[in-house]
Amino acid sequence: MPSDTEKNDAAANPAAQRRDLHTLTHGELAELLASLGQPSFRAKQVEEWVWSKNARSFDEMTNLPKSLREALAERLTLGGAVEVARQVSSDGSRKYLLRFTDGVSVECVGMPSRSKLSVCVSTQAGCAMGCAFCATGAAGLSRSLTAAEIYEQVMHVRDDFNSRVTSVVMMGQGEPFMNYDATLAALRKLNDPDGAGIGARHLTVSTCGVIPQIMRFANEPEQFTLAISLHSAVQRTRNALMPGVRKYSLINLYNVMGEYVNKTGRRPTYEYALIGGVNDTDAELQALCDFCEGTLVHVNLIQLNEVEGSKFRPSTDLRAQDFVRRLAAVGVEATVRNSRGSDIDAACGQLRQRVIGRRSS
Ligand code: SF4
Repeated sequence: MPSDTEKNDAAANPAAQRRDLHTLTHGELAELLASLGQPSFRAKQVEEWVWSKNARSFDEMTNLPKSLREALAERLTLGGAVEVARQVSSDGSRKYLLRFTDGVSVECVGMPSRSKLSVCVSTQAGCAMGCAFCATGAAGLSRSLTAAEIYEQVMHVRDDFNSRVTSVVMMGQGEPFMNYDATLAALRKLNDPDGAGIGARHLTVSTCGVIPQIMRFANEPEQFTLAISLHSAVQRTRNALMPGVRKYSLINLYNVMGEYVNKTGRRPTYEYALIGGVNDTDAELQALCDFCEGTLVHVNLIQLNEVEGSKFRPSTDLRAQDFVRRLAAVGVEATVRNSRGSDIDAACGQLRQRVIGRRSS
């Protein structure tokens, strides 16, 4: 549920009463335009403004008659997420806190590098998975986002950088596979040449390992990329770190990932946040090697982002390199991923927690 602060903000916003144009299907939009006496080509014109050009007001839709723009504005909104906070890192990354019309807020991040722009988006406001090292998990779930709200985060970052988005990772707040349909609809719109036009292989979903949805995802026709947040190949450690997926055993995860690779031929990624003294011991490293050896996988080792008040600390760089070497020795490619934005609140949920906490107090 939205916090009291979020609900009060929503009550003061009359736009919350109108439907967001992004949530209309093509058929619904065509029907509405026909009821307003418009020719059939108008639907395509409106959709281009909405999805490709990310119009923020109906007045921008200059190839529509003024009377139509006014009629649409009376009936609909254009998303209307508002940026309520941002942090800019010395490495160029920008983290945004966006608030939707009902008052809930989520984080998204833009990460530029050379000619590329990667965007990390949230799929839920808050999260119910309760990962022990995560600021979002500690705050619980507010609600799942719509496909349009997921898409809108990408467009917000694109417009702020004034640059084409080259890849998107659904690795922000929330568990994408607990909001499967909206996540898939957003991926399709991001992939659509009439939408953001981003190649399917550059669209990545990161899941804690919600097993029933992994094979569903494998059976989707597009070649979207899959990342699994593994964080430990020792059942007891994983249960403690990731209680939300305790019911899905590592054995079952291992088996389903084998099926996924057989079905898709694509290499998944295992994300592994190195936590000093918790999942970076020799026994944990051996278990990770055993879990990965002989499988088609890439391991992303991430130095844990420290969360205020958390007992967890990142491993040392030397230890991360030990992991890379040992995994390479059993034929598994691994890289240590730079933590982007480490001089701002890099872990997901920290900016939201900071702003909501401040406004509630
Ligand atoms: S790490 Fe991801 S899945 Fe886990 S609680 Fe945080 S947002 Fe949810």
